[in-house]
Amino acid sequence: MKAVLLTAPGQLVVQEAPTPEPDDFGALMRVESVAICGSDVRIMHHGNPRVALPAIIGHESAGVIVATGKHVTRVKVGDRVAVGADVPCGQCKWCRNGMGNNCSINYAIGYQIPGAFAERMLLPRLVLEEGPVTPFGPELSFDQAALAEPLACAINGLELAGMSLGKSVAIIGLGPIGCMMIDLARIMGATKVIAIQRSKLRMEIARAYEADCYIASEEEDVVARCLEETGGEGPDIVMTTCGSVEAHEQAVEMVAHRGVVNLFGGLAKDARPMALLSNLVHYKECFVTGSHGSVPRQHELAVRLLELGKVRVEPLITHRFPLADVHTAFDVMQGREGMKIVVHPNE
Ligand SMILES: [Zn+2]
Ligand SMILES: [Zn+2]
Repeated sequence: MKAVLLTAPGQLVVQEAPTPEPDDFGALMRVESVAICGSDVRIMHHGNPRVALPAIIGHESAGVIVATGKHVTRVKVGDRVAVGADVPCGQCKWCRNGMGNNCSINYAIGYQIPGAFAERMLLPRLVLEEGPVTPFGPELSFDQAALAEPLACAINGLELAGMSLGKSVAIIGLGPIGCMMIDLARIMGATKVIAIQRSKLRMEIARAYEADCYIASEEEDVVARCLEETGGEGPDIVMTTCGSVEAHEQAVEMVAHRGVVNLFGGLAKDARPMALLSNLVHYKECFVTGSHGSVPRQHELAVRLLELGKVRVEPLITHRFPLADVHTAFDVMQGREGMKIVVHPNE
């Protein structure tokens, strides 16, 4: 099969690789769509302790099951499946308690488990038994289904922020996740969604999601505007869907009393520490939470929400490429010229 191998930092090579063969407990997927994640770009340049080179990366995928081992019951040949990233080990304390994304081993597809930038991807036993593998109906395209992975992470963030009926929500950063969160916050009961973004291109795409108010952080005082939009009280929930420490600080500054901040976007390793005026947390009795990745339950929910059209991802898909053009695809991603870039390995 054709696969994209990360052979050394910065080196993605399209080459022939052996087609994996499932054992009695595994299955083989023909990869129809794999989306590039920001973390794929970071792994490509800087590597990752969980990725041993050479490696096939890619963890936001969907495809068709083309072979199964004789003991496999979870999927069958012909199934259209979406596959997520985090795979619980099933054994540790976190996995046993439904927190598989906090697993001490932290297996993930496209990390320790070979990923989706290839014509075929093996779903080994652990992935089929514990992991995020969700069949979906014909109403969903493979491109849309691949985006169930980031959507599952967005669900995790809003769940951990205690999102519920009647809350006002501010979302700082309107990349793909921030946009999905506008739809999600609404169906989870938000009465006001404030969307904040710096770059013009992303702001234009995000307008399709019809938040109640858009703030251009380049031109406006984000904290002052968010207070103004919430009658001086601040948003009940603030999600930081960007990699900016300033956004973390603004979030704590603007959040309402008893409100919740969720530090969703990770920061670069060399980012300065967040400057937190702890008295703000003290007097506002607010909560500062974090979130990363997702658990299989959330991936399943993400697929269902996409099937129902409750969360829209089509406006986010700005570029599509065949596997042979994977370099161009990564260039577009790094140039921030688009939103979601998908690759079709079998096109
Ligand atoms: Zn991802
Ligand atoms: Zn575990």
